[in-house]
Amino acid sequence: MTAVNFKPALLLNADFRPVSMVPMSLISGQDAIKDTLSERLSVVETYDIPIRTQGSRLGNAINMKLPSVVALKHYVSVDRPAPFTRYSVFIRDKKRCAYCQKELTMSEFTFDHVVPRSKGGKDCFENVVVSCSPCNTIKADKSLREAGMTLARKAIAPTVRQLSQIAMSIPIAANALHETWMPYLGPVTVYTNESDGRFPSDMSSADYWNVELETD
Ligand SMILES: [Zn+2]
Repeated sequence: MTAVNFKPALLLNADFRPVSMVPMSLISGQDAIKDTLSERLSVVETYDIPIRTQGSRLGNAINMKLPSVVALKHYVSVDRPAPFTRYSVFIRDKKRCAYCQKELTMSEFTFDHVVPRSKGGKDCFENVVVSCSPCNTIKADKSLREAGMTLARKAIAPTVRQLSQIAMSIPIAANALHETWMPYLGPVTVYTNESDGRFPSDMSSADYWNVELETD
């Protein structure tokens, strides 16, 4: 295959909505082409990047444009549990401290175990919340009652659908998006000022944000 600068494609469900917004469902250009050829996906939008291969005994020559938006031919349920990741917790809590509700930037927040790990608290959605540093320091290794603190909201384990709905209300960095994706993302708000740091746009941090966390 001709070497091209493969860009990711937005992956839509069979209903043409993103499979997931947290993290945004993207697949590599290579996979988008492979799964289109195997008829698992259909191409919805393309980049202006031609893809050509020579015909071979394995198949006919391919002559297409690199997909920018693809859709699954078979619907996958979005009422399944969301993956337990830092990013999921951050979005579920709407990037606010679960105790004082202060809105936090990417560099300000911490995670707190509601029931401290030292007291048997688990690593799971129901026990991990976003916290500002001052609240985390006050809470320390205490239970809510010992610390005299309360959660602003119950810490729930969200579904993919619930997290996607919350993500719609949080601005997304413009440089993380391609214009051909916009009609399929729903009513998202986009910001262009990188220094805002309101939403992870740095793909190099995907390992930190999107890797599923160990659960006890
Ligand atoms: Zn706080």
